[in-house]
Amino acid sequence: MKKIMLGSLMSIVALGIVSYSAFFVKTAGASTEPNIQDPTLLEAWGRLDNHHDPIQLWDGQTLTGHDLAQYLLEHGIPVVWDTEHVCGDGSCSVLYCAGETCTYEDGEPGPDPIYVYPTKADDMQSLVATLAHETFHRTQPFGAVLGTRFEEYWAFLIGAQVSQAEWPTFAAYDPLVSGYLTLWIRDHNLAGYYRLPEYPAAVAPLVESANRGLDQFNSIPAEAYGTGQEGAKP
Ligand SMILES: [Zn+2]
Repeated sequence: MKKIMLGSLMSIVALGIVSYSAFFVKTAGASTEPNIQDPTLLEAWGRLDNHHDPIQLWDGQTLTGHDLAQYLLEHGIPVVWDTEHVCGDGSCSVLYCAGETCTYEDGEPGPDPIYVYPTKADDMQSLVATLAHETFHRTQPFGAVLGTRFEEYWAFLIGAQVSQAEWPTFAAYDPLVSGYLTLWIRDHNLAGYYRLPEYPAAVAPLVESANRGLDQFNSIPAEAYGTGQEGAKP
């Protein structure tokens, strides 16, 4: 989840473009301690940092919880409880958009925090999943753009894998085939994400090749356009 603020902060946008291209690049002189004060959130960070099983991404690259924990460390991103309901009923970072360019930079000195839903405080597994999910967003894996259903799918998948959660499920959905993301959102009652665009421009070529050879309707599971019952053949 992310909260989006619109503005015309062009000088801020320039800063954001520099920072997203630094994904996983080590910063000289970075702190050795994460910018997290609360002991429970710090424990969640430690568990994330201890995750070393590679997660396969859409483009063949891999990512671990350790990579994400180190990203938080190296960028000095604070992680705090959302006591002021910045995110409503959820966890988020605030995304600032100027035109079609969106970053997590508010223009004030210092990195902006990840806000964590306080009711997660007594559920460490969920906290670790949330921290992975929200940190993945902060890396802006598809560039300085608005969020998409595709980005949410991967944020949830990474969160579930690092925390060994059984929800959401992913095996039945090919996120590169148009239509499956809609089905995945519906099947997991994540209706808030319907408003997001389906794909970021950066993965358009992968989507195209995944859909190649399929006509518009063959590529969409029948359930996605409401004819699942009639469409189901024995
Ligand atoms: Zn999200």
